[in-house]
This record gives sequence, C-alpha cells and structure tokens, in this order.
Amino acid sequence: MPLMGNMPFRRLRSGLLALLILLIPALVPAQESGVRLRTVVIDAGHGGHDPGAISKFSKLSEKQINLDLALRLGAKIEKEYPDVKVIYTRKTDRFVELAERGNIANRNHADLFISIHVNSAGSSAASGTETFVMGTDKSRSNMEVCKRENAVILLEDDYSTKYEGFDPDNPESYIIFNLMQNAHFEQSIAFAALVQQQFIKNGPIKKSRGVRQAPLMVLWRTTMPSVLVEVGFLSNSSDRTLLNQAINRQKIADDIFRAFASFKKQYDAGGGSFTIDESALATPDDPAEEEETVAATPAAPAGPHFEIQILASKTKLKDNSPELKGEKQVQCRFINGFYKYSVGNFSTREAAAKQLPTVKRKFSGAFIIAVD
Ligand SMILES: [Zn+2]
Repeated sequence: MPLMGNMPFRRLRSGLLALLILLIPALVPAQESGVRLRTVVIDAGHGGHDPGAISKFSKLSEKQINLDLALRLGAKIEKEYPDVKVIYTRKTDRFVELAERGNIANRNHADLFISIHVNSAGSSAASGTETFVMGTDKSRSNMEVCKRENAVILLEDDYSTKYEGFDPDNPESYIIFNLMQNAHFEQSIAFAALVQQQFIKNGPIKKSRGVRQAPLMVLWRTTMPSVLVEVGFLSNSSDRTLLNQAINRQKIADDIFRAFASFKKQYDAGGGSFTIDESALATPDDPAEEEETVAATPAAPAGPHFEIQILASKTKLKDNSPELKGEKQVQCRFINGFYKYSVGNFSTREAAAKQLPTVKRKFSGAFIIAVD
C-alpha cells in the first residue's frame, strides 16, 4: 500500500492514537461503573378530563400544578444535563392512562421515573410533602392516597381487563401487589429520600411526611427506580397558598432537580449501589389500621397461606345462613367494616388457583386472597 509510508498519514495515525490515549481516562470510569443515568421520565399526574385534586379555594387544579412542576423540572434537567434525555408522559393538558405512563418509561428504557402529584385529604389539617415508592406498607393514610391516585383507571376504557380485574376501591384488590418483587426498591427509596431531604432543607413546604410505600398503579410495572412525589396538600390552606405561587413551584422543581442531581452522581459513580439515609424514612404518623379477627369456625389456619374468599357481608352471618350455601369449613374475618368469608388453606397461590374454578361454580365472585 503506497500510502502506508506517507508522512501525513503517519502523522494522522499518531494524532488519532494520541487522541485515543487522551480519551481513555475519561472513558474508563463509565466503563467501570457500567451504567449511567441517561434517560429520565417525568410524569405530570392526571390531565384532560381527570383534574386530580381540586379545591374551590385554589385557582389551579392538581393537574395544572403537576404539569407546571413537571415542565419546570424537565427544563432544568435539560439545561444542566444536556446529555440526559428528558421524556414527559404529557406536556399538555391531556388524559394519559395510568398503565401507559409506565409503558412510556419502559419503552424508552428510562433510568428514573418521577411522577408528580398534589395531595388532598378529608381533613384540612393534613399538610406537608411525601414521596412514595411501590410497596405494600398497610397504613391507612397510604390507602387513602392509593384509592385517590389509582381511581383514575375507572375513567379509562375497559380498565378491568387491562388491570387484571383490579378495583381501586376494593382493599382486597391490593393483595395482587403482595407477591410483587421490585428489583429497584432500594434505588427508589434512595431517590425518594433525596427528594424529601431537599423539601425539608429548602421548602417552601418544609413539613415532611417522609418516604412511604404504597401500591400505586402508576409505579407498578415500571422497570426502573420510580417514585411518586406528593408536593403538598391542596386541601390545606397554607400548602395551597404556596402551591398557587409560581415562585414556590419553581422552588419545588428546584428541590426535585437537586435530588435528581445527587441521585445521578451516585448512580453514575456507583453503578446502582446506594446508601440509604434512614433519617429521611418516615414513621407513619397514623398507626396501621387495626384488623380485628373474629372468632372463626373452625380456627383460622396459622402462618402465611392462601384462601379463596367467597363473600363479604356488612353483617355477621349465621353458620347455617343460606348465603353460605351449605359451606361448612368457612373462615370469617372482620376487616374494614366487612365480615369476609373464605374457604380453603393453600400453601401456594397455584394450589388455590386450581381449586378456584370449583368454588366459583357455587360462588361466582370468588377470588384468591393471601393471608398472613
Ligand atoms: Zn394525584
């Protein structure tokens, strides 16, 4: 090859070599850690015909505040981290199904999913921020958040098949989450703790309800660290006043941004290993709902297992009640104001599933429950 001996080419070749040598130190850390945070999905909760929380005292509804915060947060990340891809589940006032929000994150191989919401409660005294990760902590206030944030699926078409029969208003429905393994639990907790730390430190709403777990549909199927941030209560006058001001919404977006920045730093450096700051984790301010177990006939089997629930009743049924259809080996538990009747004692869900069709012939609404 005549060109091989050519001086300009040799110079070019050695120049390339020098360039490569220069680049190698920069490349090594990324290769060592393997993973870097490259894509973040920002999910503005609700939208379109689903306004989320509303208050007659607020000039903005939840969906508007969520979108405003999402856009502010996204803009900041785009500006400070041009190499990070920011994807929004919505950038306008439109309806997006809960499952689709997670799908958007999964399709784009996102490394972090941040869902932004505003809280609301029956009591106007409830205030402060909280960040949720997917989990099955059974405290009552979490259940309220779950019902409210999951209820939107009732506005979607054909929700019962899409969400495998899940009914956001039925506590029994949440049992499907008990068997779920969340591979990104630790990372989700780490990011949630960083968000809460920023809120506590910089406000504008400094009262923290901490990091919590809840079975939230929007976080259910995401395959990356995922959190749902409740930035304050629209039902509380002090929180509401702050949320209605653009300057405070910018502060909240900045808080989440700083949490993102430190999460990304740890994520890129450690390739997924995180130190969790325990001080940021919540001890729920209201104790878990008491579940009264009434005397069962016969004694309820001990230890975690599966049963098939056949019916629920507001009143306690007699053993020979026609509603029990002659069923004798029935467990009865009083939970959330209902007497719940179940049959069987299966060590695995599969075993219960085998028996389910037989039970359904007598009790068409029967379903499997997990019992601790
Ligand atoms: Zn919401």
